[in-house]
Amino acid sequence: MNTAFKSQVRAMAASMGFPEAVYVTRPNLPPLDDVMNTLKPAWDRRWITNDGELHIRLETELAKRLGVPYLNLFCNGTVALLTALKVLNLEEGAVITTPFTFPATVSVLYWCGLRPVYCDIQPDGYNLDPAGIEALIGPDTKAILPVHVYGIPCDVAAIKDIADRHGLPVIYDAAHAFGVRLRGESVLVHGDLSMLSFHATKVFTTAEGGALATGNPELHQRARVLKNFGITGEESVVAPGLNGKMNEMQAALGLAQLDGLDANTEKRRRLDGIYRRLLQHEPGLALLDMPRDVDPNYAYFPVRVQEALFGLNRDTLYETLKAFNIQCRKYFYPLCSSHPWCSAKTGTLPRAEAAADEVLCLPMYGQLPEAWAEKIGTIIKSLGSLARI
Ligand SMILES: *Cc1c(COP(=O)(O)O)cnc(C)c1O
Repeated sequence: MNTAFKSQVRAMAASMGFPEAVYVTRPNLPPLDDVMNTLKPAWDRRWITNDGELHIRLETELAKRLGVPYLNLFCNGTVALLTALKVLNLEEGAVITTPFTFPATVSVLYWCGLRPVYCDIQPDGYNLDPAGIEALIGPDTKAILPVHVYGIPCDVAAIKDIADRHGLPVIYDAAHAFGVRLRGESVLVHGDLSMLSFHATKVFTTAEGGALATGNPELHQRARVLKNFGITGEESVVAPGLNGKMNEMQAALGLAQLDGLDANTEKRRRLDGIYRRLLQHEPGLALLDMPRDVDPNYAYFPVRVQEALFGLNRDTLYETLKAFNIQCRKYFYPLCSSHPWCSAKTGTLPRAEAAADEVLCLPMYGQLPEAWAEKIGTIIKSLGSLARI
């Protein structure tokens, strides 16, 4: 950027910059007293993990709320996903997945002796493109692992069709998709298993935490055994399991948050509306399309920055916003296919590469004041205008 632009940014930041850091997200925390009151019975019983009362209650409440037949809570989403691969006995071979995701989606494959085969993303979205899957299926393909990126559902019907024809299981990384509904039904009913993450950066959080949802009682039962060391009785260990259990402190935080969840989604919906109003006609900025048949959770606000029209590229916008104390995130850059440890044989992934170079996620969380979202949108517009002079 030229020096005139830089000095104008400095002047603008001096008057419009935030006095404190505005993060891309903040955890949705209930009042601490609510957490303590919820936790107290477990504390008094001195039963703080291993299928405690709070754990059982949270599992039941979440299965009901999310509209899934079976749900297993986990210590985090990554271990839940790892367990899902083991539940399906996936060992050795290839799994078709997307490069446009968080590293955990792919790293668990390596932990199971599997390897990723990357499929490019949709021409008009950020999810794995079903049209690219079939050409990648080979004799050692074991499963398909798509991600509902930003909580927007994948083309679940097309993926099911391909998976059924080839006899492949489907595991969805639904880390972003808590509460999302597709045609009035939970997005989690699709695939053999779906993983949720309750990490502090997600819309529902237990600090660390996660879940596996399934409609299949046998897979559910196997996940339950595997997340508890493979133990089925005091003297019987039927499989080499691991410790994936959620504890009572985590469950208390989750339970205390349930009442406020709808209000929190409503706040994010309003923030989403503010950003859209300000940015949707801005040249060179493309916003995320919300499909008509989806009830979204407004977990993220990704903006696609096209330098030729906007005047700045994504990286310059990202850096410039830091001068205003606005901390955006490049979800997902770098692509999983370009991590040095992720040496999969990969054809070209032009759409994923373009997305990774152009997407910026703006601050989005329930407690973000609406006035701040207005200001962030206004600053981004002003920077575009300034750069295009
Ligand atoms: C957060 C996230 C994970 C990991 O979940 P944890 O609960 O942090 O282990 C996996 N995949 C995606 C797409 C995520 O965003």
